[in-house]
Amino acid sequence: METKPKKLTGKYLNDLWGVGAKHALYREDGKWYHQLTEFPGALFDANGYVVFETERDYWESPYLQIQQDLHISDGISSMPNYIRVTEKGHLQAFSNKIKETAEDSAKYQTGKSKDQEPRALKAPIANDMPEDNQETERVLSQSYRILRDTKVSRWVKYVHGYKCQLCGDTIKLNNGEFYAEAHHIQPLGKRHNGPDIVENVICVCPKHHVLLDYGVIYLDKSQLIMISGHDISDVYIAYHNTKIFGQS
Ligand SMILES: [Zn+2]
Repeated sequence: METKPKKLTGKYLNDLWGVGAKHALYREDGKWYHQLTEFPGALFDANGYVVFETERDYWESPYLQIQQDLHISDGISSMPNYIRVTEKGHLQAFSNKIKETAEDSAKYQTGKSKDQEPRALKAPIANDMPEDNQETERVLSQSYRILRDTKVSRWVKYVHGYKCQLCGDTIKLNNGEFYAEAHHIQPLGKRHNGPDIVENVICVCPKHHVLLDYGVIYLDKSQLIMISGHDISDVYIAYHNTKIFGQS
């Protein structure tokens, strides 16, 4: 028998994944919900979510069967705007782990109260980079791309308390916040097409981030600092070691 998290709610996932919806509903199978009444609104299932920016987007969606309640025959994961956050089955582990980790992080962040979660600097540079053809900008986006702060990235950094999974270091900023970076082991973007899922992401310090990006170091999973609830897939590690390591 599987143990289910005690309280998995839309509100909880909305906060955990930084979705920012005003109304958030959760159903494990993603098929039946009450009506969304505030917008942006989001529907969550065990592995991801869909967002409706406006009431009109919601009522006009061809994927929703809106009656007294809301029904999606094949579940929200069948919808084109579904955002997958985790691979199947990982959410329960996340959910069980997250409180424990939040406490660890709070302990680590001395001088701050327990319910203040540590937060890293936002890294908007990556998002603002133009994707055009100028040589200089292409070089820059290649080095900034990796700092794209996706929800998955934020979660991974958060659960690791902003400590590098290779060396255990973190950077404490003057304002008391911690800084770390998230590395997509099989990189995002056209050339590598790595997925933005937690199994492909590790929390790293800037130095190790550069060493990984440039293929200077080999990734040995047994040497990584791991926590339960955040698995890293061997597939992506193998990708790094065969396609990125030693290539620059
Ligand atoms: Zn490091």
